Amino acid sequence: MSMDLSRRDMLIGSAALGAVAAGAAHVAYAKEEPLDAAAPDVDPVETYECDFVVAGSGTAGLCAAIRAAELGMSTILVDVNTENGIGGNSRYVENCGEVPEGGADELYRNLVDYHRFASNAIVTRRFADDAQKVIDWTRDNQGIVFKEGRLKYEEDGNGTNGGKTAIYTMYNYALELGVQFLFDERAYRLIVNEDGRVTGVKCRNRIGEVIQVNSKAVDLCTGGYSCNKEMFERFTNVSYDRVINRGGMGTQMGDGITMGEELGALLFHPEAINYCSPILPGHYNKGALTICGVNQADTCFFNESGRRFCDEEVISDWTTSGNICSQQHHIYMIVDQDFVQKIMDEGVVTKRHNYFEVGEPVPQFQDEIDAALVRENPRVYKADTLEELCANVDIDVETTIAEIEKFNGYVDAGFDADFMKDPQYLRKIQTPPFYLFRSQLAFYNNVGGLRVDEFARVIGSDYKPIVGLYAGGSDAGGLFGPYYDVSIAPGSTQLWGRVSGYWAAEHAASELIPSLEA
Ligand SMILES: Cc1cc2nc3c(=O)[nH]c(=O)nc-3n(C[C@H](O)[C@H](O)[C@H](O)COP(=O)(O)OP(=O)(O)OC[C@H]3O[C@@H](n4cnc5c(N)ncnc54)[C@H](O)[C@@H]3O)c2cc1C
Repeated sequence: MSMDLSRRDMLIGSAALGAVAAGAAHVAYAKEEPLDAAAPDVDPVETYECDFVVAGSGTAGLCAAIRAAELGMSTILVDVNTENGIGGNSRYVENCGEVPEGGADELYRNLVDYHRFASNAIVTRRFADDAQKVIDWTRDNQGIVFKEGRLKYEEDGNGTNGGKTAIYTMYNYALELGVQFLFDERAYRLIVNEDGRVTGVKCRNRIGEVIQVNSKAVDLCTGGYSCNKEMFERFTNVSYDRVINRGGMGTQMGDGITMGEELGALLFHPEAINYCSPILPGHYNKGALTICGVNQADTCFFNESGRRFCDEEVISDWTTSGNICSQQHHIYMIVDQDFVQKIMDEGVVTKRHNYFEVGEPVPQFQDEIDAALVRENPRVYKADTLEELCANVDIDVETTIAEIEKFNGYVDAGFDADFMKDPQYLRKIQTPPFYLFRSQLAFYNNVGGLRVDEFARVIGSDYKPIVGLYAGGSDAGGLFGPYYDVSIAPGSTQLWGRVSGYWAAEHAASELIPSLEA
């Protein structure tokens, strides 16, 4: 749906509401637009009853729904997408997380050390203790197969990637268990009784009809705010136009966080972002151009002022490169012909995943560059002089050239006096033609959100749990501090989704639904 059409629909819906105030009016919405907290309420066209309702069908939501159904709760899962789009950003994942050789203690220690106790240590301890149990449950109950026994999801053999395979495996198992799925239903408002307890959620479909799901507990698993420009900028202070959102779903509008905040829920490091490295929009992320051109420690990075802004070794870690690159308005990499030849003869120095092995020649690099030079909206430029090269982009030319001369001096001296880059990665920029890569920082999703405890209960402004309300996955904050810990725990966001979903169902079953205990 186009933005114009959706706005018009909203207006038509609002006008209709005034005309039929008796409760029959429907406020149509676009799933790409932020929730309007002030939108008038309307009576539901249908009401459902269940023990446990989950909003969101990604890893967190499916795990919560499955565990709830296993424990005997009648369970409904609503998702704003249609059935074809089940699984949210979780469809795209590879890694699902693992427990290190040293077990729970090592995992706990690694996480709190990494986050310097900016994360919640109680949440982290229980996460570490439960992680293997939840991985075993994923394999044994859900039937998910791990590649090489651990860490990665196995593809299905028909070319379906691991993340999507895992989602469909969970979906089928949830159906077998009797979970009821309501697609094209956007949860937009929590229902609260006079005691302040959450007793359900209202949802709207794309033509604005409202349904109400009454329940004993609600679990918010809507995948965070990665598609919501306003929220992204408010929480991160980074301009949304300067980053590429690599989540393909488009439905991560921060709805869970908005609904929680409406009830006074606290936030926990909502600014924490799962960054990946800079990319060249329009070019293959795993191709030689991107990996060898903009993801290497032996290049030089410059910002819009023409300043080299860091030791380029940051590129070996998504979080460090994300932290420094997100501070720049532009990120340009400049290399010379010697560098291009070096890549073709000797390969890369920085390994990005398993795309190119260090030291293995990449003979196609020049061809990929040449192909990129003739594109519209180019991301790659070539010139015989640095002045000509810089004239193509929004960069301070004099400063850039001065910085390159200074840097070349550091190479001669064998010491990077600005940022102390390892001497093995110091290479001069001196042999024409020169190349400039106009890159852009990319990210996957946020990893903080509503403050939760070690049972995935959402914490209110009085620092007490909001009874009946849970959150999981990218809607929930607790395991991560201000940064994502990809270097020590790859896949921890997936595992967090699994564990937090599992916790919510277990807690709701034991505390909120006494009939199940009998
Ligand atoms: C390209 C890519 C690759 C990634 N690779 C990895 C990886 O290898 N390992 C890893 O650990 N992490 C990875 N991540 C991060 C991972 O995707 C997230 O950690 C994970 O998806 C979070 O799961 P979730 O259930 O919280 O959200 P999601 O999977 O995004 O699910 C949220 C669901 O909620 C639905 N929804 C949204 N709003 C509403 C509403 N109001 N009402 C009802 N439903 C709603 C959405 O449609 C969606 O189905 C990757 C992310 C991306 C984008």
